[in-house]
Amino acid sequence: MSSKLVWFVGLCWTSFIGWNTSSLAQDGEATKWFKGNLHTHSLWSDGDDFPEMIADWYVRHDYQFLALTDHNVLGTDLRWMKYAEIERRGGPEALAKYRARFGADWVQERGTPGTEDHEVALRPLAEFRARVEQPEKFLLIPGEEISDAVGRLPIHLNATNVTEVLSPARGETVREAIANNVRAVADQAQRSGRQILIHLNHPNFGWAVTPEDLAFVAEERFFEIYNGHPSVHQLGDETRPGLELFWDIANTLRIDRFASPPLFGLGTDDSHDYHGVQGATPGRGWIEVRADKLEADTLIAAIQRGDFYASSGVTLRDVSFDRNTRQLRLEIEPQEGVAFTTQFIGTPQDYDRTWPAATDADGRVLTVQERYCPKIGTVFKTETGLTPTYQLTGDELYVRAVVTSTRLHPNPSLENQREQAWTQPVGWEKRLDPR
Ligand SMILES: [Zn+2]
Ligand SMILES: [Zn+2]
Repeated sequence: MSSKLVWFVGLCWTSFIGWNTSSLAQDGEATKWFKGNLHTHSLWSDGDDFPEMIADWYVRHDYQFLALTDHNVLGTDLRWMKYAEIERRGGPEALAKYRARFGADWVQERGTPGTEDHEVALRPLAEFRARVEQPEKFLLIPGEEISDAVGRLPIHLNATNVTEVLSPARGETVREAIANNVRAVADQAQRSGRQILIHLNHPNFGWAVTPEDLAFVAEERFFEIYNGHPSVHQLGDETRPGLELFWDIANTLRIDRFASPPLFGLGTDDSHDYHGVQGATPGRGWIEVRADKLEADTLIAAIQRGDFYASSGVTLRDVSFDRNTRQLRLEIEPQEGVAFTTQFIGTPQDYDRTWPAATDADGRVLTVQERYCPKIGTVFKTETGLTPTYQLTGDELYVRAVVTSTRLHPNPSLENQREQAWTQPVGWEKRLDPR
């Protein structure tokens, strides 16, 4: 474990220093922001629409990339599905909408309509991608939601840019299961020569993953700071931290106790429902990635460097951290009649490192936020306006920024949800490698 950990930290460090204040990539190509969602379900697992219909939704809503990530399936072969099941999920109009958009010639059916043997084909990605992809405008990336479990705890990780389906790697504990799945993805990346991203999904879903778990598994560098599914306990509960504090607890432990880089946070939809306004609908959360071209390996390399941010509605023109002046600076895209508040959040070096385990009446350890020093996740500064900056003093373990708009989210997963953006933690690099 320890030699692997050192290797991994070294790798991450090397790649992270590529990010500087320049808006030019290392080869001098101009960079831009690409918007995408890496968590989407279709009829291939438990979604309610055809994959090409879903891709078309994202094209029409100005996304530049999308990963269809069904549970433990890649959708590489054609599969026949009972029409009755399609109608049960998507309603009586689902097939008609599919025909209307892609043409009756494209839709493959067999059996007699109105009988049990009426089936419709789910076409594989290799067949339909040409119908929706456009060079430099829209890219589909092969993906899968590896849906593992430890006992009754759901351990879900999304693998993006995979070549072959990955079976859940299993483990005796949550930490072991996460580490085993990350290792399986690293193996496939090495064999295939591709960049493959693996991120931990919705940690509070089923209350499966604690901040301590994600601190301990140094090999997992990514998690969902915002997932648009309404059942993922984004805000925690009275004893368990919401994802903002979750991120700060995990990052504090990672940097200070395990000398490993912090987690980077993604926004995703986890969309399942495409025929109405109820449920896990698309368009709630995404990432914006800074890269020089719309290509899977390039996008994932930028994500690995931390050159991206998560959003549920706020757009940033720029986010930069100058490692010499140690200033973090954001430039927010203005919106008519809308104001923005930015919080710079982190943990100071002098936080209290003792945290007695909180237990219930039976002595079982609880994951409760009260047991942590309240300095974890300190708001160092709050600033309004379009160009908030934070000057690091050297007293911080790390700093990250959260921008909150006065505009209500047009398709919220939470009550009174405001549009937001989350940037990645900075200022931790020197501590891990003081060269
Ligand atoms: Zn999931
Ligand atoms: Zn999912």
